[in-house]
Amino acid sequence: MSLDSTTGSAQFDELGLKRVVNGRSWVTILGGSRMPAEVQQAMADASNTFIDFHELNKRAGEMIAQYTGAEAGLVVAGASAGLLIQAAACMAGSDPDRILKLPDTTGMKDELLIFENHRFGFEICYRTAVATLKEWGKGEETLVEQLIASIDEKTAAVSYVFGPWMSCGLSLREVVEIAHEKNVLVIVAAAAMLPSADNLTHYIAEGADLVTFSGGKGLRGPQSTGILAGRADLVEAARLNMSPHASVGRGSKVAKEEIAAVLAALKRFVSIDHEAEWATWRT
Ligand SMILES: *Cc1c(COP(=O)(O)O)cnc(C)c1O
Repeated sequence: MSLDSTTGSAQFDELGLKRVVNGRSWVTILGGSRMPAEVQQAMADASNTFIDFHELNKRAGEMIAQYTGAEAGLVVAGASAGLLIQAAACMAGSDPDRILKLPDTTGMKDELLIFENHRFGFEICYRTAVATLKEWGKGEETLVEQLIASIDEKTAAVSYVFGPWMSCGLSLREVVEIAHEKNVLVIVAAAAMLPSADNLTHYIAEGADLVTFSGGKGLRGPQSTGILAGRADLVEAARLNMSPHASVGRGSKVAKEEIAAVLAALKRFVSIDHEAEWATWRT
C-alpha cells in the first residue's frame, strides 16, 4: 500500500473513476478520510493473520478504554452502527432472549429521549434497533422540569448529540444528573467530535454511559469504523448485540483488519501534534 496521494489508485483507474479534489472534509460521499501510513500498515498486517475474534474484540476494547478513560470499549462499524448498538444495548442489555427478540421490543423499555435541537438525520440508526424517539424541550417549563417530566417507565435512555450546529440549554453533565437520578441511561453521539483530542475522554468524564465516535473522520482510521466506549456492562451488552453474534447488529460487521487499523489510528491520534495535523488538512 502507498501513502502517496499523487499516484492514485490503479483499481479506481480501472473502474474509470475521475479523481476529485476534496475541498469539503472527511465526508463519506467523497471517500472519507486519508489513512496514515501506520494505519494502512496495521490493516495490511492484520489481513494475513488469524486470531480468535472474541479475544480481539475484548483486547481492542481494553485499549479503547485506556484512551477514553471509560471502563470498556468496542470497535463498531462507524458511528452509525455505534448509535444502533447503543440503542440495542440500552433496550436488550445482555439478556440472550431479548437480544434475539430485537427488533421486537415488547416488554422492554424502548423509548429514547432526544432534545428538539438534537434531532438529526442519523437518528434513523437508533430506530433501526427499534427504539422509539420521544422529543423533549418544547414547553413553557424550564428544561430541567421538561426533561424530568419526559422520563417515564418506557424510557431506556436519553440521547445527547454533539455537532457543530447543535446546542442544548442543559449541559451533558446536567442531563446525566437528572437521568441517573431516575435510573435512566445517557448515550452520547459524538461522531464528528474528534478532534479535539480532549473529547476522547471528556464525555465519559461528564458521566455519559456510552459514547460513540466515527473512526473514519478526524481519527483517520478506516471509513467503516467507529468506536464505542462506556460502562463495562453496557459495552458488553453492545458486543452481544453486534456481529459476530446473531443479533440486530449482525449486519454491522467490523473486520479484524478494520479493528487493527482503527486502533493504530487511535494510537496515532493521541500522540500527534494536532496543530500540525490541521496544517496538512488546510494544504
Ligand atoms: C458522520 C456522522 C455520523 C455517522 O458516522 P459514521 O462513522 O460515518 O457512521 C453520525 N452523526 C454525525 C453527527 C456525523 O457527523
